[in-house]
Amino acid sequence: MSSRVLVVDDILANRKLLQAKLSHEYFQVVTASNGEEALEVARTQHPDIILLDVMMPVMDGFEACEILKSEQRTQHIPIVMVTALGDRDHRLKGLMAGADDFLTKPVDDFALMSRIRALTKYKLVMDELRSREASGRRIGVIEADDSRGPIEPARILVVDDNERQARRIGLTLKQEHRPVLWSEAQSEGAAGGAGIDLIVLSLDAKAFDPLRLCAHFKSQQITRDLPILIVADFEDEGKAMRALELGASDIIMRPIDTEELSARVRTQVRKKRYLDTMRRRLDESMELAITDQLTGLFNRRHMMKQLDQFLQRANAGGPPVSVFIADIDHFKRVNDTYGHDVGDEVLQEFAERMRENVRPGDIPCRQGGEEFVVIMPNTPGDMASAAAERLRRKVAGDFFPIERGKNRLDVTISLGVSTSSGENCTIDELLKSADQALYDAKHAGRNQVKSRQAA
Ligand SMILES: [Mg+2]
Repeated sequence: MSSRVLVVDDILANRKLLQAKLSHEYFQVVTASNGEEALEVARTQHPDIILLDVMMPVMDGFEACEILKSEQRTQHIPIVMVTALGDRDHRLKGLMAGADDFLTKPVDDFALMSRIRALTKYKLVMDELRSREASGRRIGVIEADDSRGPIEPARILVVDDNERQARRIGLTLKQEHRPVLWSEAQSEGAAGGAGIDLIVLSLDAKAFDPLRLCAHFKSQQITRDLPILIVADFEDEGKAMRALELGASDIIMRPIDTEELSARVRTQVRKKRYLDTMRRRLDESMELAITDQLTGLFNRRHMMKQLDQFLQRANAGGPPVSVFIADIDHFKRVNDTYGHDVGDEVLQEFAERMRENVRPGDIPCRQGGEEFVVIMPNTPGDMASAAAERLRRKVAGDFFPIERGKNRLDVTISLGVSTSSGENCTIDELLKSADQALYDAKHAGRNQVKSRQAA
């Protein structure tokens, strides 16, 4: 899918030139001639990247950049500031305004394409994470990757077999970060990528094939998501482009401008951390979706899903699946006598004992209230009853600490066991017969296990 680029410049000839270059590389191009127009187009056309001129009438690039980066709709669109050659103040001001990168006029084809490729790739990952969020998993608000202000020092692996060059890069990075040179990393065991935030990879290495190494980093579990900043010579443009295709995140050209190096490293580290946070939140939200908040056991939704899978297998001739329902005896009395906080303590302690005493492979769930279900795959009825009896003894055999250990309580449970039978056993039948068995156990005086065959 081709990316959409918004080109903003007040001079028509400049817009035309960039448009021609980008169209030639099959990008879709939209244009604007000043900052205000750029805001309008960005809000309505959703470009994947914005090339933003600095000097413009009505509203200049800095102001537009700041507004774009402050609005929720547009803050995730990467912005490349296009500045006059050698205008360092403008570059820095652009970065302060939140720009993701900069290009200098006249815009060099290679620099243009490499920046756009690098930034659209990042946006693609972001969009993917965002769409997963939008598909129903709330992950809450994450601070945008604010490109202003200082960042926590990062651990950066500098890969260059030319020791002198490597040291010089290390020296620059040391001002803000904790660089590790490749030669040191080998002996420290950091070469595998553990604990590393960013890899700086020199393309002119002789001792190894840098492109092969780049591909290797991108294929390994530990290093796959690490950003790689390529250091290239001007005559290595082709190789640098290839590195981007292999998954490198950004390129810096020799001779290295130390300020540019610092800025690019900062940007990459920030993005990596932002993506890490996104991924972590997604993992947490997925866990949240299947976990009972109070006890940490699986919730009813997950229980039904798992039961469905195991029953389908059992009905198709696979091994039987058993369940037991465990219900805390006289739980209402606990709540009425001691209050709901103590009730919660009892539920949590019970959940703990349940977790500790089920077999690996069993799935302990909280069905709701004081009712718990354990799913036991590949388990015939007699084994399930034995497991239920073991848990009953673990509960009745020892007091429950309550009121944060200041007091203790005698707790017992009743359990109803049921096992899938035949070819058409439904979840409903299985749970209903376990429920009837539980009723039998309550009726017979509580603190015991009863079982029934599913109808
Ligand atoms: Mg201008």
